[in-house]
Amino acid sequence: MSEPKRLFFAIELPADARAQIVHWRAAHFAPEAGRPVAADNLHVTLAFLGDVSADKQQALATLAGRIRQPAFTLTLDDAGQWLRSRVVWLGTRQSPRGLLQLANMLRAQAARSGCYQSPQPFHPHVTLLRDASHAVAIPAPGFCWSFPVTEFTLYASSFTRGRTRYTPLQRWTLSE
Ligand code: ATP
Ligand code: MG
Repeated sequence: MSEPKRLFFAIELPADARAQIVHWRAAHFAPEAGRPVAADNLHVTLAFLGDVSADKQQALATLAGRIRQPAFTLTLDDAGQWLRSRVVWLGTRQSPRGLLQLANMLRAQAARSGCYQSPQPFHPHVTLLRDASHAVAIPAPGFCWSFPVTEFTLYASSFTRGRTRYTPLQRWTLSE
C-alpha cells in the first residue's frame, strides 16, 4: 500500500498575478516581517484534507468531479495579518458567491469522508508571509489583482530538502 499523502484543494493563481504580487510584497514588507511564501506556492486553499490514503483520495476526487459550480472572478484587493497563525495574507473585500459555494461543498465532502475540518469559518486568502509573529504595517489600499477562476486543483504538499512543494494531482473545470 502507498503512503498517505498530505492533500488540499486550492485555486491556483495565474503566473502573472503571482509575479506581480511577489514584486509588490518585496516593495512593501521588510525581510524581518516574516518568511515569504515562494511565488510558485501562492494559492487560495479551498479545503485542507490532511493525510489521505490512496483509496480515500480516489473517493474525494470522485466527489469533487460531481461538483457543478460556475466560474467566477477573484479580486484580491485586501490584506491583513492574523497574529494567532502568524500569517500576512491577501484577500478579497467581497468574496464571490461561487468561491464560497465551491469551498463549502469541498469542505462538506471532506468532512463526510472523515477529513477533519476546522470549525473556523472559511476566509479565502493567499498566504504571503509565514512566521509573522510581530504586527506589521499593512500597505495602504489601492492594490488589486483580479482574474477569472475557471478550475480548481487537488494538490499534494510535501516538505523535502527544506522546501515546501505543492504537486498538482488533478484539476476540475468550473462551468462557464
Ligand atoms: P509549511 O507548513 O511547510 O510551512 P504550508 O502550510 O503551505 O507550508 P501545508 O501545511 O501542507 O503547507 O498546507 C497546505 C495548505 O493547506 C496551506 O494553504 C495551508 O495554509 C493549509 N492548511 C494546512 N493545515 C491546515 C489546517 N489544519 N486547516 C486548514 N488549512 C490548513
Ligand atoms: Mg502548514
